[in-house]
Amino acid sequence: MTRSETLFEQAKKTIPGGVNSPVRAFNGVGGSPRFIEKADGAYIYDADGKAYIDYVGSWGPMILGHNHPKIRQAVLDAVENGLSFGAPTELEVRMAEKVIEMVPSMEQVRMVSSGTEATMSAIRLARGFTNRDKILKFEGCYHGHADCLLVKAGSGALTLGQPSSPGIPEDFAKHTLTAVYNELESVKALFEQYPEEIACIILEPVAGNMNCIPPIPGFLEGLRALCDQYGALLIIDEVMTGFRVSKSGAQGHYGITPDLTTLGKVIGGGMPVGAFGGRKEVMQFIAPTGPVYQAGTLSGNPIAMSAGLAQMEELCAEGLYEELAAKTKRIAEGFKAAANKHGIPLSINYVGGMFGFFFTELEKVTRFDQVTQCDADAFRAFYHGMLDEGVYLAPSAYEAGFLSMAHGEKELEETLTAADRVFARMAK
Ligand code: PMP
Repeated sequence: MTRSETLFEQAKKTIPGGVNSPVRAFNGVGGSPRFIEKADGAYIYDADGKAYIDYVGSWGPMILGHNHPKIRQAVLDAVENGLSFGAPTELEVRMAEKVIEMVPSMEQVRMVSSGTEATMSAIRLARGFTNRDKILKFEGCYHGHADCLLVKAGSGALTLGQPSSPGIPEDFAKHTLTAVYNELESVKALFEQYPEEIACIILEPVAGNMNCIPPIPGFLEGLRALCDQYGALLIIDEVMTGFRVSKSGAQGHYGITPDLTTLGKVIGGGMPVGAFGGRKEVMQFIAPTGPVYQAGTLSGNPIAMSAGLAQMEELCAEGLYEELAAKTKRIAEGFKAAANKHGIPLSINYVGGMFGFFFTELEKVTRFDQVTQCDADAFRAFYHGMLDEGVYLAPSAYEAGFLSMAHGEKELEETLTAADRVFARMAK
């Protein structure tokens, strides 16, 4: 038994499934998860001392690579002053100013400690502000595990085959309407059915929890227009895409202005952080200025703010996003070329620093139902082949892949050479 396998067996005795977040258990690909001991740059190292080129990046935040010296130093400096105060700090003001500078649609912002908190709070705010109960989300999109959002959800819920979870009363779930991603007609139909009841649309502007599906032209603009027509708020969930698809998130990349935005992961540089913000008029509805309650003991935590600020400063470097996008394109196009060389059909999507690949004959995958029809056995074979080769991909066909600035020529080349070998073996 490897040390990872031993640890997994031990973990299962005290932690449900041996993990603290489901996808980590490798249910989507089978086999035993790697227990990670440390990470640096583009690499993670497991408990058996094996190094992997990492395309998970802690599910997104490690956009500069693991253990970045400036972020590490910022955390070490902050620790000197104490870990948490439960009172306002200058760091929070600087963080708010930085977020607003980078994402102009956010006129005010509130920090929380996870993406789930960010979306849950944004939904409550949208409901309170519009005085409406229903919300509209898309099948296969994941927005964290709040009750109202765990309906036809993506990510781990999808990987485990439980897109809608038990434990959520029908009375709660009935207020969550679901539409088809990239199909404006399905959204229109719901607004026509409930013209005055829908508080908001929430969506991933590039879906990254049903693999990776960018919006088709006109989709985001159409949602904005429908929200305006029916008096609903548009919430763009940029927990994954924020500061990854572009410096100003997917909303900057596609030129779309939401009423509210949710952020997570990237703004914490690896610390537990999330945020929601948007139009001042709406944000003023939150306590203590407004009636909608929302709070958090560790919100705006000084260590997390320091890590996040250090990362955001680095992200403003000239040309960073062009370079990140070029690396991403190289990997995605490289996977496709290698697969095709060995007669294996593979479709790819990529935007900014995120990518997805699909074992399908389809030229382009744009819808959730197409993702679920992909060849799951081929994905598993490729996944384990790459893992053996020392490349760590997301352990589910329903997750996006992430590049970091620490992925250099050597790592990209080695990854593509590994992919070539794995596809060659699969083709036999
Ligand atoms: N929204 C999106 C788009 C996400 O990808 C995630 C997590 N992957 C969340 C919300 C929830 O964030 P967290 O896991 O930090 O609660």
